[in-house]
Amino acid sequence: MAPTQSLPDHSPPARTLRRPAELVEQGLVSAERLPALEAVARSFAVAVTPAMAAAIDPADPADPIAAQFVPSEAELTVLPEERADPIGDEPFSPVKGIVHRYHDRVLLKPVHVCPIYCRFCFRREMVGPGGEGLDAAELDAALAYIASRPQIWEVVMTGGDPMILAPRRMAELVERLNAIAHLGLVRIHTRVPIVDPDRITAELVAALKGSRIPTWVMLHSNHWQELTQAARAAIGRLVDAGIPMLAQTVLLKGINDDVETLTRTFRALVGARVKPHYLHHGDLAKGTSHFRTSLAEGQALMRALRGDVSGLCQPTYVLDIPGGHGKVPVGPGYLTDHGDGQWTVEDPRGNRHAYRG
Ligand SMILES: *Cc1c(COP(=O)(O)O)cnc(C)c1O
Ligand code: SF4
Repeated sequence: MAPTQSLPDHSPPARTLRRPAELVEQGLVSAERLPALEAVARSFAVAVTPAMAAAIDPADPADPIAAQFVPSEAELTVLPEERADPIGDEPFSPVKGIVHRYHDRVLLKPVHVCPIYCRFCFRREMVGPGGEGLDAAELDAALAYIASRPQIWEVVMTGGDPMILAPRRMAELVERLNAIAHLGLVRIHTRVPIVDPDRITAELVAALKGSRIPTWVMLHSNHWQELTQAARAAIGRLVDAGIPMLAQTVLLKGINDDVETLTRTFRALVGARVKPHYLHHGDLAKGTSHFRTSLAEGQALMRALRGDVSGLCQPTYVLDIPGGHGKVPVGPGYLTDHGDGQWTVEDPRGNRHAYRG
């Protein structure tokens, strides 16, 4: 099944929608919801790009694109366990714009804004207009931190969405990283090829390619309906240029938490030459409980995919442990340890087998 773009009966907006009143004007929310959504917008940034607004079917109350980007009253419900910094980046930030939690790689956050704001964003308290990106001196300090630590092999650009950088600035940053001799890889986390595909110009693609080390792109994608024709063309421009692409998906209740949607989404990504890498369990970001599934539900979904769906379409299901303890695979597990090299291993149909080893 090829992904098809939904055919909305509204004309796409010319600009990114940033105010709840604009969402009402576009017919994406009803007028009586305006006061509540204005309250949401005071806490969390709102933006819906023309590409994604056009892909929403306003007649579908469960539209998976609207559910990801159009604010909802449910965001006003904040649970006690939800945190401003759900994955604990702050204690691992030695200088502004750097998060160094794992030995051989750092996050570099050159910008704090995104072209669109996901309602379940795990950095929703940090990203958005009015937050702080890096100025020239701060970027120098972040790069100096990387340059002075030879154990750092990889720089993961994230944010915010780094792909909103102008091609000239991106080229400059990629080249400055390529000039640090101990680095082996630049990785860029982005939603731009999907949410604003026109930004993937030949100039930007050229800017991503370093003179010495490869640049890999990690696409954030949660539903096959996002992969519009324009998005697939933008991905094609990156892959055709020799840029390897992976995807990370967030498991989202009511959006992709069923076997059929996940299968179709991972197949659509592989079909676009993007390897599904991680399926993230929902983080404890404020006002996002309506999106979270249980771990048991996530494991059951992964178990259902194993065996019946191509191995290329199987990401690793991971949890970022709250408090900054890191990302780990969270199953499901197929082994039971009986000690002394005696195991029971479960096959994809759920039958158990003895194994020595
Ligand atoms: C997720 C993350 C990374 C990248 O981890 P991978 O497992 O290599 O994808 C690096 N640093 C931090 C702080 C992270 O949260
Ligand atoms: S693109 Fe990433 S950083 Fe930006 S709002 Fe979405 S999840 Fe958050």
